[in-house]
Amino acid sequence: MNKLAVTFVIPAFNEEQSIDAIYEAIKTEMEKHSFYRFEILFIDDGSTDKTLDLIKQKSTHCKEVKYISFTRNFGKESSILAGLKYAKGDAVIMMDADLQHPPSLIGELLHGFEEGYDQVVAKRDRKGDSKVRSFMSSIYYHLVNKVVDVELSDGEGDFRLLSRRAVESLLSLEEGNRFSKGLYSWIGYEAKIIQYKNTPRKNGDSKWSFAKLLNYGIDGVISFNNRPLRLCFFAGIWVLLLALLYVLYIFIQIVQRGISVPGYFTLISAVLIIGGIQLICLGIIGEYIGRIYFETKKRPHYIVKKSNVVDGSNVFKRYGKSVSTSPPFVFEHADSIPEKELVVEHKTSNTTK
Ligand code: UDP
Ligand code: MG
Repeated sequence: MNKLAVTFVIPAFNEEQSIDAIYEAIKTEMEKHSFYRFEILFIDDGSTDKTLDLIKQKSTHCKEVKYISFTRNFGKESSILAGLKYAKGDAVIMMDADLQHPPSLIGELLHGFEEGYDQVVAKRDRKGDSKVRSFMSSIYYHLVNKVVDVELSDGEGDFRLLSRRAVESLLSLEEGNRFSKGLYSWIGYEAKIIQYKNTPRKNGDSKWSFAKLLNYGIDGVISFNNRPLRLCFFAGIWVLLLALLYVLYIFIQIVQRGISVPGYFTLISAVLIIGGIQLICLGIIGEYIGRIYFETKKRPHYIVKKSNVVDGSNVFKRYGKSVSTSPPFVFEHADSIPEKELVVEHKTSNTTK
């Protein structure tokens, strides 16, 4: 029987200080699990430092190193999507390049896979994060779970193992605006959770600014349902009801005491409050329209510049250019390792494969 293959998907954006370390760490861990073949698929998300050079260098010496390099920075979601698309493993493990996702957990992730789970999720605590960020996150998850249909859990992110059929399920979702955290939950499947301690970043800086995080948060709410639109509708009804009650109250006062001129405060309050609510509602509607606009464009999520796994010819065919194609993916390196039989039975019965 063939050995099971694991693909490590590692998105990397300006991670020159971490490439060596993450490669060594994965290799060391996988030596302990010799009944798996593995490949490390780096996605260089338009790095401007030496990240790509280092990955390419590695790939010439180590057959298990594969890479895809984008023409510019398309964002982590796009990197993950490319990684999933070109991963050929029976299981895929997604890890950040910065070693914040401890490679020592690989064994436990694989163990969960062997037990038959389609998703094995490494869940981190928030130790080492700034207090403000932890506080904002906990409020965010509390609120967002009241609004969205899928269950989002604080600390459960991209560090996870996915079975082949979970990967295929994710790839079958064709939306342009991808919010992976929600998608992992949306596809379902039984998941095993492994807790781990948050490790602060060793090299370089986080690529997430406050504004990026805020936008990511909004994506989380908008990507999963139209409840915010319904909220606008109910807010409108409540404001109208209150306004009618107020009009009735003023009318009774006028009947009893006649028209009194002063009323600047009430007038300006009403104009501002109702104006504010209208603007928020327009903003929410605008968000949805914006998403429809981008979905209708059907732009690709990323464009590949260089790779040792992607056949670039399709991307450029319609522009009349031809690009040399790379050989199809093969697991070559593990031939010398003695094979062991390992059968994985999936926990759930409905298969998408
Ligand atoms: N990353 C990426 N594209 C981006 C931003 C980040 O591929 O536009 C990668 C980055 O190299 C790292 C992972 O995504 O491997 C997580 O990024 P980061 O460490 O900055 O996020 P944090 O750990 O602060 O959430
Ligand atoms: Mg990080």
